[in-house]
Amino acid sequence: MSEVLNVKYNGNPCYDIVFDTSFDELSKRIEELGFKNRKFAIITDSNVEPLYADTVVKTVEAISSKVIVYAIPAGEENKNLSEIQKIYKVLIENKFDRHDLIIALGGGVVGDMAGYTAATYLRGIAFVQIPTTLLAQTDSSIGGKTGVDFDGYKNMVGAFYMPSLVYMNIKVLDTLSGEQFASGFAEVMKHGLIKDSDFYIWLIENMYEIQERDPEILIKMVKKSCDIKRAVVEKDPTEKGDRALLNYGHTIGHAIEKYKNFTLSHGECVALGAVAAAFISWKRQLLSMEEYYEIRDMFVPFGLPISETDIDADEVIKLMHSDKKADGNTIKFVLLKKVGKAVLDSTVTDDEARAAIKEITWSEDFE
Ligand code: NAD
Repeated sequence: MSEVLNVKYNGNPCYDIVFDTSFDELSKRIEELGFKNRKFAIITDSNVEPLYADTVVKTVEAISSKVIVYAIPAGEENKNLSEIQKIYKVLIENKFDRHDLIIALGGGVVGDMAGYTAATYLRGIAFVQIPTTLLAQTDSSIGGKTGVDFDGYKNMVGAFYMPSLVYMNIKVLDTLSGEQFASGFAEVMKHGLIKDSDFYIWLIENMYEIQERDPEILIKMVKKSCDIKRAVVEKDPTEKGDRALLNYGHTIGHAIEKYKNFTLSHGECVALGAVAAAFISWKRQLLSMEEYYEIRDMFVPFGLPISETDIDADEVIKLMHSDKKADGNTIKFVLLKKVGKAVLDSTVTDDEARAAIKEITWSEDFE
């Protein structure tokens, strides 16, 4: 039996997030949106297509006049405008009009690209998200941010564009690699740290079931994580204020990601950035020492790093200043007032950041 959350946009009910352990209700949910005998384009990637595209086609073909599947080559390096142009061409060749539907079947890369295609093709056609990574299920499929990377800059071109439905089949997480699962988990942990201490404790208490990917526990975890993100994006849909709290761990994390030339996963960098931000919070006496060490150590059992070799703190600080979210010389940090309560802070100095980066830099003296 599925569970549902509704996400509001500008105060009005906007789209449902369905949590299920199969695709059984997908057709019914799409039909309820008014899509009957319309064309559906399933946009996926080259890894997800062989795993789930057939099942989704079989599930929706009874309510559609035509279903096409288009797979982008998998990977962030393909999240660009030239791949979007290829999708536009396929839609034009198949005569998609504004009453037809795009279905994003994949991780955050597919969701962001299919969403951007939907936002721009014919000035906007409807789209449904079927997120298949833990990151996409708990984070990127909610909130309507779509887009592509451009000229070496991440997510530089894009649009806020809401999906008509987000349908999560938790069972697709079974085929996800351990690394990808851990990467998504960093964002789940972040949601607990910034907004909900009970959820943070629940995650620790259910550590083994989460690692075993117990579907009952995963559905609760994904739903709670989505609910936290839902509340944040409803309050601040276009990131003018509180939505920036979701960047907890990302200020230093993004810079390390770039510094390491994307050889670490996004989640690994978020975990490192989250530890660094907790360290600054401790040094400012917002968190106690015990809280800091507990936060730091909680990433370890989930397969996430809390330190990394060969990080040049000054280079990372330079990258932080050049991030598109930095405002001139002021860097917006997210700190923790306590577990479950994050605050925005623009007064963190380079010296404080340097000390935090040194804290997460592993060296032999550390042993
Ligand atoms: P991804 O989409 O590249 O997926 C990771 C890998 O897992 C890919 O190789 C993919 O083919 C594979 N995969 C997907 N589902 C699978 C499954 N069920 N089984 C086996 N393999 C599977 O990466 P991601 O981590 O899902 O998303 C990262 C992207 O999300 C980035 O581009 C980032 O910018 C974006 N993002 C967007 C938002 C937003 O609000 N829109 C938020 C966070 C991140």
